[in-house]
Formats: sequence, structure tokens, C-alpha cells
Amino acid sequence: MKIIFDPDIPRNLIPYIKQAIEEAIEEPCECGCDEVYASMQSENNIDVKCYDCGTSYFELEIEEVEVEEIPEGPSSTVDSMKK
Ligand SMILES: [Zn+2]
Repeated sequence: MKIIFDPDIPRNLIPYIKQAIEEAIEEPCECGCDEVYASMQSENNIDVKCYDCGTSYFELEIEEVEVEEIPEGPSSTVDSMKK
């Protein structure tokens, strides 16, 4: 299954959304398209639908997700965060 993400979706949410979609969608759409489009519905809502015919699979609430800033490049902060 291929997932297309709306450019508005924060990149740090993509792994979370991808996992949620893979867990929730077991079969491709009735139209035979196996591409899924995830778009930003509102600030806390991701709409997941068929890329081809637009049938909505589900909406994903993202308000409980902790958005962590991913540090760019190596720094001392990264080392201190490692376990
Ligand atoms: Zn479809």
C-alpha cells in the first residue's frame, strides 16, 4: 500500500500517520486503487482517503500525539538524549 501525504502535514507526524494507516486499512479500496491519500483536515485532524476515487477510510485525531522536534545534525543535545 502506497501512502501519499499532503505537503501540509508536519513531517514529524508522518511516521505516526503511516503506522495508523497500515494498522487500520487491511484491504485496498473497492475501486482497486491501493494508494491512500492523507490530507490535513483541520489542525488536529487527518483525513485518510482513497487517492483514486476519494472514498474516505477514516479520520485520524492527532491531538494526543507528542510532537518532538528532531534536532538537525549532530550536537551535544543529541548525545545527551541517547539511551
Ligand atoms: Zn477508491
